[in-house]
Amino acid sequence: MAEIQLRNLSKRWGSFVGVKDFNLTIADREFLVLLGPSGCGKTTTMRMIAGLEDPTGGEILVDGKVVNDLEPKDRDVAMVFQSYALYPNMNVYENIRFPLRVRGTPQAEHDEKVRRASAMVELDDFLHRKPAELSGGQRQRVALARAIVRQPNVFLMDEPLSNLDAKLRVSTRAQIKNLSHELAITTIYVTHDQIEAMTLADRVVVMEKGIVQQVGSPTEIYDRPANTFVASFVGSPAMNLIQGTMAGGTFTAPATRITGLDAPDGPITLGFRAEDAEVTPEGGEIAAPIYTLELLGDATMVSLRIGGVLVSAKTDKSFRAEIGDPISIRVPREHCHLFDAGTGARLG
Ligand code: ATP
Repeated sequence: MAEIQLRNLSKRWGSFVGVKDFNLTIADREFLVLLGPSGCGKTTTMRMIAGLEDPTGGEILVDGKVVNDLEPKDRDVAMVFQSYALYPNMNVYENIRFPLRVRGTPQAEHDEKVRRASAMVELDDFLHRKPAELSGGQRQRVALARAIVRQPNVFLMDEPLSNLDAKLRVSTRAQIKNLSHELAITTIYVTHDQIEAMTLADRVVVMEKGIVQQVGSPTEIYDRPANTFVASFVGSPAMNLIQGTMAGGTFTAPATRITGLDAPDGPITLGFRAEDAEVTPEGGEIAAPIYTLELLGDATMVSLRIGGVLVSAKTDKSFRAEIGDPISIRVPREHCHLFDAGTGARLG
């Protein structure tokens, strides 16, 4: 059992704020993903939980006990890095066994534990190979097995898939999801890849510049982004965001007029997702020539340029038109997201 609480957790270097007032309770067995662009403070947060970095403020509690002053080795957390960090001179078996030796696990238990961990990541046939004789994906699985073998209370994974090619990333991602289900260990997973976050997480924390922007299930983050940063970071393509003006419930922007919205008069940012928009030959609410067309296989992406920004709508795969043809888009009201033009915060 391991519930982790972060209370006002902060890290500064001089006047630079790496992480600011992070507050969160991570439930026992939860799979939590920290998501955000490079430099937003994900790794620093994780390193503080692991004990590899001293917080400059706040507390970390594991099962109700403050662990700020505990050495990394006493925190019962296992960390998997993007760089694998395997010992090149040891074979796979020895690499996986290493944490058992360090922690003084009785020798008689080693073989069974190593074999069980290696079977979980399907490395049974590679136990005698050295890391240099393995593919990137196999090396990453050794790193996973080495974390599993200890049966820690908490798993910390820092971009474990980022060195793998796209195809391997998808299959290893599936394996991590399956493993985490099987092991039921509290996991904190760092990534800048929103697809990884959405597919793996029970809950996602979106961070920017050291500050938590939103915490929620993948669906909540996707369907109700708390602000324009989250809206533009989660989803592929990013949510369309158009700057305009609201007056009497009607939103206007270049080539755009959408009526029947509920928001105060004044400048506003309107957002909608490409898949929620309807493409019509004419009579829509956003009308402009087609800027580009992309065939995605299962659908066609149509893009227009509105006031200098690209606005995309997903339509049928059989849709055919030419760049420059006039086109219009309708956005069902329930799929319109409204944000404060100044702060970017969600309205309503
Ligand atoms: P990435 O995805 O690139 O790893 P990240 O979100 O994990 O990014 P962190 O590694 O947590 O980001 O870094 C957060 C910020 O703190 C960055 O701007 C980084 O430059 C800064 N930082 C990290 N370590 C130090 C340090 N030892 N001294 C000063 N600044 C640091």
